[in-house]
Amino acid sequence: MYTDFQKHLQTTLQEIKDAGLYKNERVIITPQSSAIKVEGGADVINFCANNYLGLADNAELIQAAKDRMDARGYGMASVRFICGTQDTHKQLEKAISDFFGTEDTILYAACFDANGGLFEPLLTEQDAIISDALNHASIIDGVRLCKAVRYRYKNGDVADLEEQLKAAQAQRFRIIATDGVFSMDGNVCPLDKIYELAQKYNALVMVDESHSAGVVGKTGHGVTELYNMRGKIEIITGTLGKAFGGSVGGFTTGKKEIIDLLRQRSRPYLFSNSIPPMIAAAGLKTFELLTRDNTLQDKLHANTEYFVTRMKAAGFDIKPTQSAICAVMLYDARLSQEFAAALQQEGIYVTGFYYPVVPQGQARIRVQLSAAHTQEQLDKGIAAFTKIGKQLRVLK
Ligand SMILES: *Cc1c(COP(=O)(O)O)cnc(C)c1O
Repeated sequence: MYTDFQKHLQTTLQEIKDAGLYKNERVIITPQSSAIKVEGGADVINFCANNYLGLADNAELIQAAKDRMDARGYGMASVRFICGTQDTHKQLEKAISDFFGTEDTILYAACFDANGGLFEPLLTEQDAIISDALNHASIIDGVRLCKAVRYRYKNGDVADLEEQLKAAQAQRFRIIATDGVFSMDGNVCPLDKIYELAQKYNALVMVDESHSAGVVGKTGHGVTELYNMRGKIEIITGTLGKAFGGSVGGFTTGKKEIIDLLRQRSRPYLFSNSIPPMIAAAGLKTFELLTRDNTLQDKLHANTEYFVTRMKAAGFDIKPTQSAICAVMLYDARLSQEFAAALQQEGIYVTGFYYPVVPQGQARIRVQLSAAHTQEQLDKGIAAFTKIGKQLRVLK
């Protein structure tokens, strides 16, 4: 039975390899941090984790998780509407609402699920979703699962968004969907202009804060802080897997009727397990840490500024960024792979991205800064980039 299918799969896999697109995973044998050890290699400085605030190995979070596991056990083994929830999950939902200045929050196993289960319960074929062309895969999948009419506008292009909104006036309700920070360039969405257009053309706004929450804005409250729009956006989604501790878990936060209906109808919530109590407790601790003082946010912003300024001064072509993502443009796919491999020899851990992850001819190395980076680590990173940049004739 399997033979024909196996051949088909082998052919497909070979095609992926021949195109140079086969993904090999490196194995990390230390906790996630700014300095890690990769199996079979030396120690490296990590510039490609979503560990923006350096919380992935934070002692307070680990202790909070341990304590709650001792007190409340390992797992929930249930979905919430069947067997109920623990108080910790409710407290975390409250903490997320307080953080974003929203009315209510619903937890998911991941932000992929939050986005996947967002649109279908809220909209029908009478409605419209107007989506940024560079939105995350999980938003695209969520839109696909919903019967609403789909419109797409060019990345961050408010003129194009306006055209799409005009076209979408035939529908009953409209939701504009956008990432807060676009992960390959590090640019933020023009939320102020999007909101203005939403008012003008009678639309709701949904922002995915996965790469922006904890990062963007003076106190890391995300794009709504950056644009001084706290409490104005109807729907925000986000993850606990990046700045907020780097473990697992996702959420949708916003207007209370929206959240209430998601609890009744959102399929990844209704038919999937709750996050473990220890993860909820560590999540709670994360929001306590971030509101206690601004140390981590300040450190992240200072580190990003330091790195980007010096990389530009060294002569690198850096995409304009308003986040902790620094895209070092190399344009050529092969060069991006060579450059990344050479950097790893220098003890600098990064990934080169090329088509189809980024547009053709737009290959790059995406550096992600963290509050955990020391100045010495940043200096080593910049020195290695400069050395390899000269070797590979990217720099003069
Ligand atoms: C990472 C990411 C997600 C997925 O988050 P998980 O919690 O890991 O599933 C969703 N949206 C955006 C914009 C992301 O960057």
